[in-house]
Amino acid sequence: MTSLELDPKLAPNQTDRYSRQVLFPGIGADGQRSLSASRIAIVGCGATGSALASLLGRAGVGMIRIIDRDYVEPSNLQRQALFDESDAAESLPKAIAAARKIVAFNSQIVIEPQVADLTPANIEPLLNGIQLVLDGTDNFETRYLLNDFAVKNSLPWIYTAAVGSYGVTLNVLPGQTACLACIFPDPPRGAVETCETAGILNSAVNLAASIAATEALKLLIGARDRLRRTLLSFDVWTNARAEVSAAKPRVGCRPCGNREFVHLAGEGRPHITLCGRNSVQIHEQHRPINLAEMSLRLKPHGSVRHNDFVLKFWPDPYEITLFPDGRAIIKGTTDASVARSLYARYVGS
Ligand SMILES: [Zn+2]
Repeated sequence: MTSLELDPKLAPNQTDRYSRQVLFPGIGADGQRSLSASRIAIVGCGATGSALASLLGRAGVGMIRIIDRDYVEPSNLQRQALFDESDAAESLPKAIAAARKIVAFNSQIVIEPQVADLTPANIEPLLNGIQLVLDGTDNFETRYLLNDFAVKNSLPWIYTAAVGSYGVTLNVLPGQTACLACIFPDPPRGAVETCETAGILNSAVNLAASIAATEALKLLIGARDRLRRTLLSFDVWTNARAEVSAAKPRVGCRPCGNREFVHLAGEGRPHITLCGRNSVQIHEQHRPINLAEMSLRLKPHGSVRHNDFVLKFWPDPYEITLFPDGRAIIKGTTDASVARSLYARYVGS
C-alpha cells in the first residue's frame, strides 16, 4: 500500500493549524486528538469524494484511504475540486491526483491512494482497518456492495449522492439505524438520472458533502448523540427539502434483518457503464500489465501514450484506458460485447 507523507517536522505546529476548529465547543482539544487518530476510507473520488476528502483532510482526520477506479478528464473540473487542468492533461488517476493535492495542503496526515474498482473480491483488504466509510461513488452497484460489507462487519458508513440540483445523504450505523437496503430494498430500475442525463450543480454536491463530512466528524469524535438519523434530501434550485426517518432497521431487510449479503457474494455483477460518459469498464481481468511494453505493442495500431499509472490508446473511434492491474475503461460504446472484443483484440482475451 502506498502512502504519501511529508516529513512532519516541516509542517506547521498542529495546535496552530487546528486552532479555529478546537475553539468550536463541539470539537475541542479531545475531539481534535480523536480526529488525528481516526482512519477513514472515501470510496469514489469524483465531485462528492473530492469535497469530502478536502473537508476531512483539512480538518485533520489522521488517515484517509482514497479508493477510485477512474482518471481525471476536463469535464470533471467544473465540480471535482481536488483536480486541475494538468491532472486532466495527464489523465492522472483520481486517487493519485487527490493524494497529491491533499498532501500539499496537509502534510501532517496520511493519505493512501488506491487506484481500484471496489468489488466483492477486494472490498475486504481495501477497507481493512477502517473505522468509517464515506460514499463518493456514482453508482448503486458499489453502494449496495458497500452496504452489505458494512452491515456484515458493523462498520458505519455515510451514503451521499447528488444529481442535477438534488442531493441526499444517510448515516448508516449498523445495528442501530436503517441501512441503505432498509430504505431502498432494490437498486432503482429502468432509466436512472445521472450526471450525464440530468447534469449536476457543483453547489448541490458540495452541500451534500458538507453535511456528510460534518456527520463524519461527529462520529469520529464520539458525539453519536448528535448524529442525524434520517435520510435527508434537498434541492438547491427549488429549495425543497425532505427528511425520512431512518432511526430503526426495517424488519425483513435483506442484509440487516436476514443477514443475506447478495451483493457481497457478487451475484449478478454486470459490466459497468460509468456516470458522465459513453463508456464500459472491463474489470474481471486480473492480468498485471507493463504499460511501457504495452505501449510499444499498441503503437502500430493507433495513437498511444502512458505514464506510471495509466495508458491511453485510441483505436478510432474508441478510446481505451488501461490500468496496470489489467482493468480497462473503453470509451465510445455502451455495448459490453463491443468493449469485450476491443479488449480481446488489443490487450488479450
Ligand atoms: Zn437494512
